[in-house]
Amino acid sequence: MLNELKTQVHEANMLLPRMGLAIFTWGNASGIDRASGLVAIKPSGVPYELLRPDRMVVVDLTGKVIEGDLKPSSDTPTHLELYRRFPSIGGVAHTHSRHATIFAQNRQPIPPHGTTHADHFHGPVPCARPLTDEEINGDYELNAGKVIAECHPDHVGIPAALLAFHGPFAWGPDALAAARNAAVLEEIAYMALHCQAAGPVSQALLDRHYFRKHGPGASYGQN
Ligand SMILES: [Zn+2]
Repeated sequence: MLNELKTQVHEANMLLPRMGLAIFTWGNASGIDRASGLVAIKPSGVPYELLRPDRMVVVDLTGKVIEGDLKPSSDTPTHLELYRRFPSIGGVAHTHSRHATIFAQNRQPIPPHGTTHADHFHGPVPCARPLTDEEINGDYELNAGKVIAECHPDHVGIPAALLAFHGPFAWGPDALAAARNAAVLEEIAYMALHCQAAGPVSQALLDRHYFRKHGPGASYGQN
């Protein structure tokens, strides 16, 4: 079932350690087949070297396991909430990449300090509010998805957010795009950490770079 999706989700998960975004079993990526509403996601706690496409777990949007012998990632309810709240996205990646996590732990959004940021994110990457004790003791992972969705001004133009005290979530049209956005996020977080004194870019430069690569007037790359 959904072999192509499972292959792509496997590949997206393998990109996380390869791009230096995850060690041990940290991090997870998923992808959704919008036609069936089914999501393929990394199994919980399985080291990357033991992952295979057929070990990806298929769940529906309520979290029920549809296919797979292993337990899905413990962050599955967060991924599912993002799929429910952001209907245009096709993939989600979560990491504890070092510099993006530093911003999350400081509960700071990542400001756009240059064109590397503006090429990919059309504004600051927001940081969600911390969860209350009730939210932590309740449906913790579901509530994490809820506060991310609630903090987000533009999930299309800014395909990532920080979960306070925790780390980054990124998304995109599919699982591979989500993993790549997680890598761009880490890169801009590293740069931003060392550029704070200079202040953010102007709106004009932000718009110019973002819209060169995105939207109907995009001119970057080959026709
Ligand atoms: Zn995490």
